[in-house]
Amino acid sequence: MQIIRKSGIEPNLENYEGSYATFDWLHGNKEIDYFADGKINAAFNAIDRHLHKGRANKVALYAVSDNGHLEKFTFQEIATAANRLANALKKLGVKKSDRVFVFLPRIAELYISTIAIAKLGAIVGPLFSAFGPDALRDRLIDSEAKVIITNDVLKQKLIEIQGQLVDLDHIVVVNSKTSPLAGEISYEELVKDAPSDPVCEAVSVDHPLYLLYTSGTTGKPKGVVHAHGDIVGHHMSAKWVLDLKEDDMYWCTADPGWVTGTVYGIFAPWSNGISVVCYEGRFSAHDWYALIDKLKVTVWYTAPTALRMLMKAGIQAVNDFKLDSLRHIASVGEPLNPEVIRWGMEAFGLPIHDNWWQTETGMQLIANLPCLPIKPGSMGKPLPGIHASVVDDNGVELAAHQLGRLVVKPGWPTMLKGIWRNEEKFQEYFKIPGWYTSGDNAWKDEDGYFWFVGRADDVINTSGHRVGPFEVESALLEHPAVAEAGVIGKPDSERGEIIKAFVVLKNNVSSSEKLLEELKIHTKNKLAAHAYPKEIEIRTSLPKTRSGKIMRRLLKAWELGLPTGDISALEDE
Ligand code: ATP
Ligand code: MG
Repeated sequence: MQIIRKSGIEPNLENYEGSYATFDWLHGNKEIDYFADGKINAAFNAIDRHLHKGRANKVALYAVSDNGHLEKFTFQEIATAANRLANALKKLGVKKSDRVFVFLPRIAELYISTIAIAKLGAIVGPLFSAFGPDALRDRLIDSEAKVIITNDVLKQKLIEIQGQLVDLDHIVVVNSKTSPLAGEISYEELVKDAPSDPVCEAVSVDHPLYLLYTSGTTGKPKGVVHAHGDIVGHHMSAKWVLDLKEDDMYWCTADPGWVTGTVYGIFAPWSNGISVVCYEGRFSAHDWYALIDKLKVTVWYTAPTALRMLMKAGIQAVNDFKLDSLRHIASVGEPLNPEVIRWGMEAFGLPIHDNWWQTETGMQLIANLPCLPIKPGSMGKPLPGIHASVVDDNGVELAAHQLGRLVVKPGWPTMLKGIWRNEEKFQEYFKIPGWYTSGDNAWKDEDGYFWFVGRADDVINTSGHRVGPFEVESALLEHPAVAEAGVIGKPDSERGEIIKAFVVLKNNVSSSEKLLEELKIHTKNKLAAHAYPKEIEIRTSLPKTRSGKIMRRLLKAWELGLPTGDISALEDE
């Protein structure tokens, strides 16, 4: 099945083949403002330059609080607020390259702080507000953070670890009403009298912009370093993949504590001068749909886990709303099951465009671009300027339909600059000469579409057949009783490994021997005799990272009674 998008609007990238053949990143650079000597600042590109391009009074941020209160900030207001904060931080002693962490819910101060830190040439450390003390301690100690910007509620999580944070000089607290911690400064006091004179450190393209820890799906989160020069990749990819246009109302549901929220919730849309929606509240099908209708969201960037939850909430929840402002939907973070795309067509009348990238890659690299037909289950094709391939262990490129390692030719602008204080880990990404190794396995079809199979470590070897967990999970999801599925390989003396599935049933469906048998037959019919789960266990939930990804390594560890390893990324049950 192929899905062709229906929207009457011409996509920004109209001719994929032509652009792929001719695009050079030097062309992208023309859309970015550099300073005289090739220096740059990502925050200047995101905010300041729009003040002189007729967007000073355009709304940059529609901030919707937990209780539905809407506040608007123009590009001028964000610039002024960020300049004040940057001047105040400078006075506090924050210098170029210092690590300043932002530990806030999705409120305006998070966005303003990120821009202010980048303006100073200091390094932004985004932190997800649901992190507990252990996750915080690991990141703040590893990065030697100097300042953390937080709020009254979240600062409580610092109390028990504060003694261990020897490098942390200041805790800046937004809207503080409780007794102050040692070293605490009020955000409001700090900015009240600070000058709003423009601050903008001109830095080299390789100068660190942000330091972000990976999701921790496969192991201990890694501190990935990205640079100011990334902005050209942010800009071009958002233009092509998210298809952002001047009048769009754009909502990225990812928290800036994850790379999607930092890149595509802040820098990329703002570099394009687009109005961004941020919503402080948690997931709720009703609240999300109401927000889309209220703000007339046109472009929506979300994740498979959220889409599966919307699916679970049912079509009735959709029918209570209009949702007719939406024109383009994209998804990232995990494989997007074909069943979810089919449901999206039914629910929103629009295809959902899957795309692939990683914290390390810094931008979307492979995508179902709006100008190309979607093949449900495929991640799409490499963006112009990106040479992705599937290779064997020696780096030899494989023919179509052969399973191998998903790799990318280094040289795209947003490639990670390093792993924080861990050169050895950084070098591991380049162990196949000439390639950046993603750690994912995939295959390519005859039309150049890439198909995700699994994390290299997750691929199951059963009776000599290699089976990706994603295809088994997707087949299970096509059964009307199934809401979520996580699949692992379980060691077996006869077959090497057998496939074991952990399944969450939809509301109101109860488990029975008959149903389990039916699920096995269903998968066997969909895939192949060797690819069905010999064992199925029904669970009420699956272990997920705080960014919503299924943690198969944990399912496996529990199943085999092995140590669970680093679980700081595990969401609370
Ligand atoms: P860690 O590296 O700490 O184990 P993580 O890999 O989940 O965590 P991220 O950088 O947030 O951290 O996620 C990138 C990974 O997410 C990719 O390597 C891939 O496995 C998965 N992923 C992202 N987008 C897609 C997609 N569209 N289809 C399939 N997988 C995807
Ligand atoms: Mg990873």
